[in-house]
Amino acid sequence: MVTVHNLGFPRIGVKRELKFALEAYWQGNISSGELEQTAQNLRQCHWQNQSKLDLVPVGDFSYYDHVLDTSFLFGNIPSRIQQQQGEKLDHYFQVARGRSGGKNSCLCHVAAGEMTKWFDTNYHYIVPEFTKDTRFVLNSQILLDQLKEAKKKGLKTKIVLLGPVTYLWLGKEQDKSDKLALLPALLEQYQALLQELAEQGESWVQLDEPILVTELAEEWKKALVSAYKVLKQAPIYILLATYFGKLKENIALLPELGVQGFHIDAINARDEIPAIIKQLKDKQVLSLGVVNGRNIWKTDLNATLEWLEPIYAILKKRLWLAPSCSLLHVPVDLERESKMDAEIRSWLSFAIQKLDEITVLAKALNEGRESVKEALSSNQACLDNRRQSNRVHNDKIKKLCQSITSELGNRKGAYADRMELQQKILNLPLLPTTTIGSFPQTQNIRQIRSQFRKGELSLNEYGNRMKEAIAYCVEQQESLGLDVLVHGEPERNDMVEYFGELLQGYVFSQQGWVQSYGSRCVKPPIIFGDISRPEPMTVEWITYAQSLTAQPMKGMLTGPVTMLNWSFVRDDQPRSETCYQLAMAIRQEVLDLEKAGIRIIQIDEAALREGLPLRRSEWQRYLDWAIRSFRITANGVKDQTQIHTHMCYSEFNDIIAAIAQMDADVITIETSRSHMELLKAFEEFEYPNSIGPGVYDIHSPNIPTVESIVHLIHQAEKYIPVQRLWINPDCGLKTRQWSEVIPSLKNMVQAAQILREEY
Ligand code: GLN
Ligand code: ZN
Repeated sequence: MVTVHNLGFPRIGVKRELKFALEAYWQGNISSGELEQTAQNLRQCHWQNQSKLDLVPVGDFSYYDHVLDTSFLFGNIPSRIQQQQGEKLDHYFQVARGRSGGKNSCLCHVAAGEMTKWFDTNYHYIVPEFTKDTRFVLNSQILLDQLKEAKKKGLKTKIVLLGPVTYLWLGKEQDKSDKLALLPALLEQYQALLQELAEQGESWVQLDEPILVTELAEEWKKALVSAYKVLKQAPIYILLATYFGKLKENIALLPELGVQGFHIDAINARDEIPAIIKQLKDKQVLSLGVVNGRNIWKTDLNATLEWLEPIYAILKKRLWLAPSCSLLHVPVDLERESKMDAEIRSWLSFAIQKLDEITVLAKALNEGRESVKEALSSNQACLDNRRQSNRVHNDKIKKLCQSITSELGNRKGAYADRMELQQKILNLPLLPTTTIGSFPQTQNIRQIRSQFRKGELSLNEYGNRMKEAIAYCVEQQESLGLDVLVHGEPERNDMVEYFGELLQGYVFSQQGWVQSYGSRCVKPPIIFGDISRPEPMTVEWITYAQSLTAQPMKGMLTGPVTMLNWSFVRDDQPRSETCYQLAMAIRQEVLDLEKAGIRIIQIDEAALREGLPLRRSEWQRYLDWAIRSFRITANGVKDQTQIHTHMCYSEFNDIIAAIAQMDADVITIETSRSHMELLKAFEEFEYPNSIGPGVYDIHSPNIPTVESIVHLIHQAEKYIPVQRLWINPDCGLKTRQWSEVIPSLKNMVQAAQILREEY
C-alpha cells in the first residue's frame, strides 16, 4: 500500500482567521488565551481537512513563520530580545515585528529580525541570527502539545521540522563568526528532540532540507553528510524532504545521507527520479511530490498514473505520495469560490482539492484505476476542456507572439541622442523632481472604488469622483513645484490586479489568499489564457491628468515581468511565452499613451529580481526573456518619448548588465536606506542612462529634512554625474498620509533648488 501524506497545510485559515486574530491581539483587543484558542481551532480544522491522509503533518502551524518557530524551538533568541520584558509569546512577536502588541505587554520598540524571501517563493521568513556565542536550548513544549492535540483526534502524525543545515544556511552571522561552527551544538539539540519524539511513540519525522536544490559550496555538502550521519542514529525514522527544484549534482549526496526516506519534488525534478530510485537502499522510502504545491491547476491524474505505475511496481510500499512542497503557497479551498466562472473553476485545485487528488492517485495504485474510475474521468474531462477551450487559446495572439523580432525591442536612437531630443520637448531643470506614481490612498478613495464595485456608483459617477481625486493630486503637485507629475493612481487597488482585470486571460479569486509574511496575505491573480488587451486601460485617466497641467504628466504602467511574477501562471506553456504575451499587450498601451500626447511613460518592474531562479547557472536564461519582454513593452516609442522604469529593491550588483539592457531613459530605485552605496554598481558598470535614486524612505512616517536629501544627492553625485540624476522618493506614496507627503515633498523640492544653485 502507498502511504499518502502532506508536507504542510496553509496556516492562515480559509477565512484568514489567523490574520484577524493576530491583528486583534497586537491591538490589544483579544487576550493571548483567545489567540491561542483561534490557533487551536485552526489546527483542528486543518487536521480534519487532512484526515484522509495516512500521516498528517504536525509542527507546520505557525503564528508567524516556521523559521522563527525553529529559532524559538532551539532557544536561539537574539540577546536584545531576551532583555525585554514579557512572556515568550511577546518575545516571539518582538522578533517578528519589533513589538509585541497585546494588552499587558510593553510597547517599547526593539529592532525586529530581518525578513527575506523563502527560496524562490513569495513567502518571507525571519532570518535567524547567529554569533559565535549562540547557544541552543531545546524547548519542545509547544510542539509536544500540538502532537498531543493531533493524537487526541486519533490521527496518525508526522512531525515536520526545518532541517538543521538549511536552518543554519538561512541565517546570518551578526559578527564575523562562521555559522557552520554551530552545527555540532545544534545537532545535539536535534538529537534530543528526536529522542523525545520517539518517546512519544512517533515513528517518522520529516526534516526539510530544501537547500539540496541549490548550488552548494563544498562545506555545506559536508555539513549535510555529517549532520545526517549523526541524526539517522536517532530512534525515529527520518524523511528528508527537498522541494522547489532539481537536485542535479546533489543527487550524489543522497546515498551518503543514509536516512530512512527522501521526499523529492516530482514536479520540478521528475526526470531525476529514475536516477534517484537507482540509488535507493533496500529499505529506504521514496516520497514523490506529484501534485504541484506552487500553483493552482488540477493535476493530470491519468498522466501522473501512467508515470507512477511502473515506479510503484518497483517500490511497492516504499512509495509515498504527497504534494511537491508544503501547501503553504496555495489558497485553502476552491469550494469557496462561488463567484468564479464555473468553467475556469473546473480547471483549478486549491490545497484541499490537491490532497483529494493525492488520495485518488494512491487509491488507483493500491486498488487499480477502476476503483477511482469516476474521479479519473471527471478529472480528464476538465483537463480536456481546458486544453481545447478557446478562452485559453487565441490563435491571433499566438501568431502575434511568434512574429516578435528583436527589432521590436530596440529604441531607434542611442541614449545620448534621445536625451537631447527629449530635453528639447520637456525642458526640465537640472536634477528634475518627480514621484514614483501613487499618492495617498485615502479612506475616501477606497470608498469610491468599493461603492463602484458594489454597483452603488454608476460608471459615470465613478469616473467623475476619480477625476476629482486626480485633480486634487495634480493641484498638490503643482503647488509643491514638482517637475514631472503623476496622476496618483487612485483607481488602482493594486498594481497587478488593476491591469489583470482589464486584460483578457486573467481571472480573480475571491478568497484565494496566500500568506506572504506574518499576518500579511496576497491574492495572486490567475493567468489562465492567452493575454490580450481589448481596449486602452489608462489612457483616459492619464490624458485627463495631463489636461490639467502644463508640466509633463507621466503615464504609469506595470511591466510584463512583474505582472507575471506576482500571478499564478498557466502551466501549459513556458513562463517566457506568457511573459511575451503580456509584453505585447502592455506595449499597445504604451503606444496608445504616446499617441495621446503623453511624453513620459513609466513602466514599473518591482518584481523583476524576484523571478531569478534558485540556481545562478540558470539566471541568464531567465534574464534573457525577462529583459526582452520589458524591451518589447517599452521600446516601440519614438526617441522623443521618455521611458522610465521603477524597481523597489536595492541589490543590483549581480544583474546590472541586464538592467542596462532594458535601456530605460530613467530608472528610479530604492536607495535611501543604503546611503546611495548601491549606486556603486551603476558606476562600476558605467551605466549610461539616467537614474533617480530614492532620497527618502516611504515606509517610515518620518519627514525627511532638506539637509538629509541634499546630503544624499551629494553622495549620489560621487557615483553618477549630476546631469543624469533625478530626485524622487524611494517608492510610491500610497500607504502614507497627505499630512506626511506634503512636507516631505516640499523638502525634496527645496533640496533640489539648493542643489541646482550649487551646480
Ligand atoms: N507606481 C507604483 C506606485 O507608486 C509603484 C509601486 C511599486 O513599484 N511597488 O505605487
Ligand atoms: Zn517601489
